[in-house]
Amino acid sequence: MIHYMNRLKKIKEKLLKIMFVKRCVGCGQLLAYDYDGYMCDTCYEKWEDEKTEVCPNCMEEHVKCECRFYNSRVDSVRHLAPYSSQDEENVANMLVYALKRSNDSDVFDFVANEMADNLVNKKKLENTVCVGVPRGPRNIKKYGYDHAKKLAKRLAEVLEIGYADVLFHKGGKTEQKKLDHVEQRRENARKNCSIKKKTIDNIRGKNILLVDDIGTTGSMATACAELLKEHGALRVDCILCTRNEGKS
Ligand SMILES: [Zn+2]
Ligand SMILES: [Zn+2]
Repeated sequence: MIHYMNRLKKIKEKLLKIMFVKRCVGCGQLLAYDYDGYMCDTCYEKWEDEKTEVCPNCMEEHVKCECRFYNSRVDSVRHLAPYSSQDEENVANMLVYALKRSNDSDVFDFVANEMADNLVNKKKLENTVCVGVPRGPRNIKKYGYDHAKKLAKRLAEVLEIGYADVLFHKGGKTEQKKLDHVEQRRENARKNCSIKKKTIDNIRGKNILLVDDIGTTGSMATACAELLKEHGALRVDCILCTRNEGKS
């Protein structure tokens, strides 16, 4: 009987290990199932370095940078670290990839907590609701979820503030990333972005914390801010995982 119980115990331990597979939220390598943390040591060190790299525009560390988007109705922008498509080990790039494709709750937990840490003025969050920049319907169908909305919802939980699912993407044929000029991107974003009439009451008279994974020219964020303000939002502050300084 004791022998049998021991065998059961061993099987249970093995199952636990398989069920709670833990992966680095950056590079995706397997971590020990009882590993304390979201990232492998290599990614963690690199991520800390990326956050404190100096922004070439304001000369502040990226984690403190408040560079505005060009000619935008977004009131402020914060981001965690710079994006680099050239650097294969760029953790910001890996995180964006994981947010868009993996639907792993650890990735969302990690980024939401990093975002919460980045928002220094938490007192200002009274009367604020989180809103996600909407993902195109083709990508929702392809990956099965809307990553920025999911991130916004998680961030709202971490910050203990409201969340509103109020925007949607109309699914125009042209993808933002295929357009080079700010004006084209702004026009396309405005065409694609729309508001859910039924949920407008959730943002009227509120400050909005607008959440997205990556910002380039801020065109989608700008289109969202315009819509939200047209429908009674007071302020729109934006928080991004990363910013692509390469295209502006
Ligand atoms: Zn890693
Ligand atoms: Zn800056």
